[in-house]
Amino acid sequence: MASARENQDNMATLHLLVQQVSRSFYEPKYIVVMDQLARHPVIKDDDLAGRIGLQAKELNKLTAVLVNDKLVKVYRRNELKEGALRAVGRQYYYIDYKHFCDVVKWRVAQMRELIDKDLRNELDTKGYICPQCGTSYASLDVDRLLDMATGTFLCEICRTEVVDNENAESLKGSQDRMQRFNKAMTWIREGLRKSEEMVLPAFDVHAWVQANTTEAEKQAMDAGDGLMIAGGGPAFEDRIGVVMSIDKDEATRKAEREQEAAAKRSQNQMPSWHTKSTISGDLTALGIAQANALEKESANSHILDSLASSSKTLSSLSGDTETKPNIGSAMASTSFEAPVDVKPVIDERQADCKFCQWSQVGC
Ligand SMILES: [Zn+2]
Repeated sequence: MASARENQDNMATLHLLVQQVSRSFYEPKYIVVMDQLARHPVIKDDDLAGRIGLQAKELNKLTAVLVNDKLVKVYRRNELKEGALRAVGRQYYYIDYKHFCDVVKWRVAQMRELIDKDLRNELDTKGYICPQCGTSYASLDVDRLLDMATGTFLCEICRTEVVDNENAESLKGSQDRMQRFNKAMTWIREGLRKSEEMVLPAFDVHAWVQANTTEAEKQAMDAGDGLMIAGGGPAFEDRIGVVMSIDKDEATRKAEREQEAAAKRSQNQMPSWHTKSTISGDLTALGIAQANALEKESANSHILDSLASSSKTLSSLSGDTETKPNIGSAMASTSFEAPVDVKPVIDERQADCKFCQWSQVGC
């Protein structure tokens, strides 16, 4: 069994290998993605996009290449997004180091084979050169150079024995390519060699996502995702948090509604010389009508409030059948009484008496 220290060293080696591979074969944008993946065991798509400052769509283009190259693995799962009605497919990206090492080994071998093949071809056709006068001969010309007496190939001009032409341009190029390749691969080969000595534990991404999303889901619920109620299941305790989040939503909605109404009112407001007599200061016919409208509007908002709070109570009551006290319903019931009483009074006054419409005193 490997010690923790050994594991740490192994992971450092593997991270270094990932960095070297990405820097050897990929553009900077891919390097950034690979570095992030090397730093975390698993990253969710939107988290990764946020970390490297890209839109999800752009990130998908990059990861598609890496996934296609088999360096990165992807785990797909349908999840309920915060505030969404239906589940959407989410991706979790990770590096399976065993798979990663195998892929890199295979690719390095393939590249080496390709360069080697070129080199062999060129060695075969490299021809001969005279060391004395420097005349070069193609491989097909050597039959002319064969000296029957000695059994050697002699230069046509100075009769010196020719040698393999190691300096042919193409051959130089290929040898150079092979050298550069070997040099560039030094560290990667070293990393791969070290990885062969390691016992890489199998990585269970499904278990990781399961273990880590319960945490994330809890956070999402605390932040106010009422839809998780439909999922039910093990996290029942969290549902109290969900009810409270509905309260909060209702409050914001109410504030928005009031703001909208205020904006409308200020738009519709008549200039004071229309609504009030400029001489006596009393309300004119227009002023009276406006006062009525204002009163009616405030009555409407009270009705809306009371409706909202009663539905809130209903939902929180039906949502929680436990005997546990519910903060959400308690809050709702306290705000339930007051506004309902106001409504009929205003309506009666408006219906019955012209005077009471704007007077605070009843008839
Ligand atoms: Zn010669």
